[in-house]
Amino acid sequence: MQSIDSALVWFRRDLRDHDHAALSAALQAAGRVHCAFVFDTDILDALPSRRDRRVHFIRESLVELDTALRARGGGLIVRHGRASEEIPALAHELGVHTVFANRDYEPSAKYRDTLVARSLSEMGISFQGCKDQAIFECDEVLTQAGKAFSVFTPYKNAWLKRLTSADYARFDCSGVFAGSALAGVPSLTEIGFEATDLQEVGIQPGMSGARALWDEFRAGRIKRYGALRDFPAIKGVSYLSVHLRFGTIPIRELVRTALAEGADTWLNELIWRDFYFMILDRFPQVERNAFKPEYDAIRWENWPAGYAAWCAGRTGYPLVDAAMRQLNFSGWMHNRLRMVVASFLSKDLGIDWRLGEKYFADQLNDFDLSANNGGWQWAASSGCDAQPYFRIFNPITQSEKFDPEGKFIRRYVPELAAVPNKYIHAPWLMGRIEQEGLGVVIGRDYPGPIVDHAQARERTLARYAVVKKPD
Ligand SMILES: Cc1cc2nc3c(=O)[nH]c(=O)nc-3n(C[C@H](O)[C@H](O)[C@H](O)COP(=O)(O)OP(=O)(O)OC[C@H]3O[C@@H](n4cnc5c(N)ncnc54)[C@H](O)[C@@H]3O)c2cc1C
Repeated sequence: MQSIDSALVWFRRDLRDHDHAALSAALQAAGRVHCAFVFDTDILDALPSRRDRRVHFIRESLVELDTALRARGGGLIVRHGRASEEIPALAHELGVHTVFANRDYEPSAKYRDTLVARSLSEMGISFQGCKDQAIFECDEVLTQAGKAFSVFTPYKNAWLKRLTSADYARFDCSGVFAGSALAGVPSLTEIGFEATDLQEVGIQPGMSGARALWDEFRAGRIKRYGALRDFPAIKGVSYLSVHLRFGTIPIRELVRTALAEGADTWLNELIWRDFYFMILDRFPQVERNAFKPEYDAIRWENWPAGYAAWCAGRTGYPLVDAAMRQLNFSGWMHNRLRMVVASFLSKDLGIDWRLGEKYFADQLNDFDLSANNGGWQWAASSGCDAQPYFRIFNPITQSEKFDPEGKFIRRYVPELAAVPNKYIHAPWLMGRIEQEGLGVVIGRDYPGPIVDHAQARERTLARYAVVKKPD
């Protein structure tokens, strides 16, 4: 039987018990609030490996969330199955009048939520979506003509103009939770997964992990972010992306602090996040197609060996290889390097950006369809506000500029450790005798360059000629 006094909060990518829009709304609307999470088999079954750091991260974050909710008289009910079926069934079982959830802008999530809302409605239960993961949602920042922005800077200006303290105020999450005998988090084995090296690669999940990173970044680095953020060998960025992905820290707190500290460059990155959420929501076709349709006419190379070398970090370009090995080792890659390797795949190797996007989606702990798609389409020039197609990153000058002493390269490509700074960005330029002397023979100890950048550049300009508008 439904109780007008109880509600269910369905957690998804918002794994915390504070400053949480759906939780706050439920606690205000109902006298007793149940909390649930579903390990959704529609998502899990599609993952390429049963050892997935994201699943491990979620599982550990749920344990912490469950503990926090229990301390407040509640607990987390965790189900394993199709969310579109589990949530309506659970809502029925608990007899709640409303299910609250924070909105998600990915096409498959929107579709799932439509199914859930329909099933609930057939049982007389309402479904209420809340804005939580963005400061401004999709239709909240529009051009003067009421259209979606497709260029970042005017979007950012409009975003800032609209912003008031109410937009980043904390959601009050005090209230009464329903204790539940159903609560408890299954082990990874129980959901068909295995433990990973999450801790070994330095990732601390949950609200506590987010808090530790945030405290460190806020105390020391946030003010120097603008100066340090482009150098992968330096600890300059926040490393918060996996926590933002799974909502173990609220975006509002980050924006509040960025404004208070005058950290404009960092705030800019948080605005890019909202921008790409908006793009995916308003232009869902980008999931499969170029934002600018004429870019779908490009004919990409069919080059499996080139793709495999890129994935493995064996292209012969040290910065590209170090970046790909960082990704393969840790599931994270520095933003400057994401741009460099994405440009290298699409413009030096001439391989379809969608293949790179897919590899990132499988490997990144912070994989987020909106930011990943936005980043790839930016690099391949097919996106909204992308770099022009004739702007092609030179992997050697990028390396000289952003890893001048090769510190980052040597960390991830140890076979180049002995190479002097002069040659670290393009080791094939060393003479044979020098190579022998250092014990780093190109082609034996480290690959020669898979393509010649200057020639690749010419091929790319020819390949992209199809997108030129007729004069
Ligand atoms: C090809 C490519 C793919 C990318 N794929 C992803 C992805 O799957 N998931 C992801 O979160 N970010 C992605 N990014 C954006 C960016 O590289 C990462 O957010 C950032 O490197 C994460 O490190 P950080 O948390 O230390 O970021 P910081 O530099 O400290 O930035 C703070 C936060 O701002 C947000 N942010 C920063 N840059 C961007 C951006 N360009 N677009 C959207 N949000 C941004 C992130 O949430 C990030 O955690 C991608 C960028 C490129 C070029």
